[in-house]
Amino acid sequence: MKHHLFTPPGQQALEAVMQRRPLLAFDFDGTLAPIVTRPDDARVAIGVAHRLEQLAEHLPVAIVTGRRVDDVAPRLGFDPHYIIGNHGAEDPEQPALPPEVYIALTDKLNALRLKIETSAEALASAGIQVEDKRHSLAFHYRLARDRDAALVTIETLLRGLDPALASFGGKCVVNVVAADAPDKGDAVAMLVARSKSDAAMFVGDDLNDESVFESAQPHWLTVRIGRDDPLSRARFYLDTHSEVATMLQKMLALLR
Ligand SMILES: [Mg+2]
Repeated sequence: MKHHLFTPPGQQALEAVMQRRPLLAFDFDGTLAPIVTRPDDARVAIGVAHRLEQLAEHLPVAIVTGRRVDDVAPRLGFDPHYIIGNHGAEDPEQPALPPEVYIALTDKLNALRLKIETSAEALASAGIQVEDKRHSLAFHYRLARDRDAALVTIETLLRGLDPALASFGGKCVVNVVAADAPDKGDAVAMLVARSKSDAAMFVGDDLNDESVFESAQPHWLTVRIGRDDPLSRARFYLDTHSEVATMLQKMLALLR
């Protein structure tokens, strides 16, 4: 059974990782910002942003999100050292995909975009919003009156998906990415190297964060927001996103 981060084993793990001056990497939705009905309303609270800004004066701080980089940046309230978007596939400093792979991906996604256009009415009437994030597509169904029916509509649309593409779920969302695109686990490992860090601490809350939890090295610290997924590979948990400010405060205290 995993421990809450605010227990003696959690405090020990936090102290151990902070001594290594780790890369600090955070998911955005559901982690730094609460999940909201309209994704456009999501923002980092001032108190959380202020603590992150203070941490970023001492350690490399990264945001690793499913959102587009230019979508998430203005919602943070502070400047992290790195932002990786599109579930790991969008890296503004260095294209994550070689150009020929990227062109092939665009073609595959274009075929799906056409299919979405012809199904636009069915998707809209099921309460599904399609978000085109260039490197990936997201089918949001949080606002659907019948979420189960909306999920069936999405699954039907994605039946026979091109094997060059892959789909995965999340909280009221189905994402489509290139099958060989880097995931969040790849992104955090790359950022550890890029920031010349010796370790990483990563906090996330959803399925696309599991790639980091699974690939984390033994001396890294991984924390999941919420214990609603008993299969999660995160080593510690917090009960809700509202405990994040306290976690950041504890991290700041360990720097002093
Ligand atoms: Mg999340």
